[in-house]
Amino acid sequence: MATRTVVVIGGGIAGLAASVRLIQLGLKPIVLEKRPFLGGRAYSFTDRETGAEIDNGQHVFVGACVQFQQYIRDIGAWDQVRLEKRMALPVLKHGRLSQLRARKLPGPLANLSALLGYRHVGLRGKMRILWGLLSIRLTRLNPDSVHDHVTFDDWLRDHGQNDETIQNFWNLIILPSLNDNISVVSAYTGIMLFKIALLGPARNPAMGIPLVGLSTLAGDNARQFIELHGGEIRTGVDVASLKIDDARITGVLTTGGESIDGEAVISSVPAAAMTPLLPKVPGGPDSPDDFFTPAESIKTAPIVAVHIWYDRPVLREKYVAVLDSPLQWVFNDTDLKSRDDGGGQHIVISLSGAWDWKDRSKQELRAIFTAEMARVFPEAQRAKIHKFTVVKMLEATFRVVPGSQKSRLSQRTPLPGFYLAGDWTDTGWPSTMESAVRSGNLAAEYIAEDMGAGARLGADGQ
Ligand SMILES: Cc1cc2nc3c(=O)[nH]c(=O)nc-3n(C[C@H](O)[C@H](O)[C@H](O)COP(=O)(O)OP(=O)(O)OC[C@H]3O[C@@H](n4cnc5c(N)ncnc54)[C@H](O)[C@@H]3O)c2cc1C
Repeated sequence: MATRTVVVIGGGIAGLAASVRLIQLGLKPIVLEKRPFLGGRAYSFTDRETGAEIDNGQHVFVGACVQFQQYIRDIGAWDQVRLEKRMALPVLKHGRLSQLRARKLPGPLANLSALLGYRHVGLRGKMRILWGLLSIRLTRLNPDSVHDHVTFDDWLRDHGQNDETIQNFWNLIILPSLNDNISVVSAYTGIMLFKIALLGPARNPAMGIPLVGLSTLAGDNARQFIELHGGEIRTGVDVASLKIDDARITGVLTTGGESIDGEAVISSVPAAAMTPLLPKVPGGPDSPDDFFTPAESIKTAPIVAVHIWYDRPVLREKYVAVLDSPLQWVFNDTDLKSRDDGGGQHIVISLSGAWDWKDRSKQELRAIFTAEMARVFPEAQRAKIHKFTVVKMLEATFRVVPGSQKSRLSQRTPLPGFYLAGDWTDTGWPSTMESAVRSGNLAAEYIAEDMGAGARLGADGQ
C-alpha cells in the first residue's frame, strides 16, 4: 500500500482524476471536498419540489475526449456511458429535421461527408464551410499569436463565412461546446475545437452521453476506486489555506482549524477559489508579475437547464438541436437514461451562454419554454405538463474570450510542493470534463516526476 501522501483540495472531476492517477503512480491521495458530495460541477440531486433525481446540467462528451474516456474506464464506469461510432446530430429548423451525419469513409472525409446531406445550409454555404475548414486546417495555432486576440466570428468572416454558415453551422457547434456565443469566443479556441472535432478521425465528434445520474457516474465510481486502492476521501472539509515550511508547501489548514500534511498538495478548485488559499511569500502572489496573478482574470459563463415532464412522448429523437429558437439543444432524458416515466417523457432544454435567461424567474421561463416547445414539437401541444423545474448554474464554465489563454496556469507551480489541477488550468482544452481529467493527470504526473523514485505505473501500485 502506498504511504507517500498527496493532499488533493477539491473532489470535482479534476481532483478525482488526479487521485486516480496518483494511485496508478504508487502515491496515496487524501481528497478534501468542502461540500457533502463529490463531482464538483458535475452532480445530480433530488429536486425538492418535484422529487425527481436530476443532473445539475446535461453533460455530454465526444469521442475526442480520450483521457476522460480512459478515466471512466479506470474507475469501472464504462458501461454507464454510451459513445456513438460517428457524428449524427439531428438539427431542426422551421419544422424541418436534417442531420449532420458522417458517413463510413476514411479519416476526416467521414466528418466532411456530414455536410452533404445537411439541408440547413445551401450549396454555396457548404462551399464556404469547406473553405473555412481548409483555412482552419492550414492555420498554425500558438496561444501568443493573433488568434487569441480576435473573436472566432471575426476570424470566420475574414475566411469566407457569412450569417448563414455562422448561424446554421459554426455556432451550432461552438455555443454548446464553449458555452458562449461565437461572437465572443476567441478564434484560438474555435480553431482548436474544429481542428480536433471535425478535421480528425470519424470518432472525434461522435457524441457520448452518461446513462446514469452524474453523481453516480462522476462521484460514486471514483470514490469506490480511490478507497479500494488505499486513498482517502473526506467530504465536508473546507480548506482555508496552504501550509508553508521552509518555502515548501507541506499540507493544508482547514476552516475547522485542522492541519493535514502531505508530501505535495494539488489544488483542483476553480481559479477564484484557488488564489485565496495561497500563502503570502516574498515574490509570491503579492508581486504583480507573479505566476498566479493571471488566474484572477478568469471569468465564468452560466448554463440554465429547463426540465419539463410531459404526460406523453413529445420528442422522438434522443436529442436534437433547434435553430432559430431559444431552445438550443433538447434532450430526451427518459430515453437517454432508459427510465420508465410511466408513459411520459422528461425533457431537458440545455441553454448555453445563458446570459438572457439566468435572471428570469421560474414562471417566466415556464411561460417562454413550454410555449416554444409546443411551437416546435406538435406533440407538446396536446401533452399535459406534470412537473417543471429550472436549474441555474451561474458559474458553469470558464470563458474563452480573446486574451484568456494567458490566464490558464501550468499544473506545476513555482511553489515547491504545490500543484494545480482544474479544467481552467493549461490543458489546451475548453472548460470540459476532458480538460478536468487532463489537468488531474498532468498534476499527478508532475508530482511523481518531481518526487522521483517510488512512483510507479499500475492501478495497484505494482
Ligand atoms: C450545467 C453544466 C453543464 C456542463 N456541461 C458539460 C458538458 O456537456 N460536457 C463537458 O465536458 N463539461 C461540461 N460542463 C463542465 C464540467 O462540468 C466542468 O468542466 C468540470 O466538471 C470541472 O471539473 P473541476 O474538477 O475542474 O472543477 P469543479 O467541478 O468546480 O470542482 C472543484 C471542487 O472543489 C471544491 N472546492 C472548492 N473550494 C474548496 C475548498 N476551499 N476546500 C475544499 N474543496 C473545495 C468544490 O466544491 C468542487 O467540488 C458543464 C458544467 C455545468 C455546470
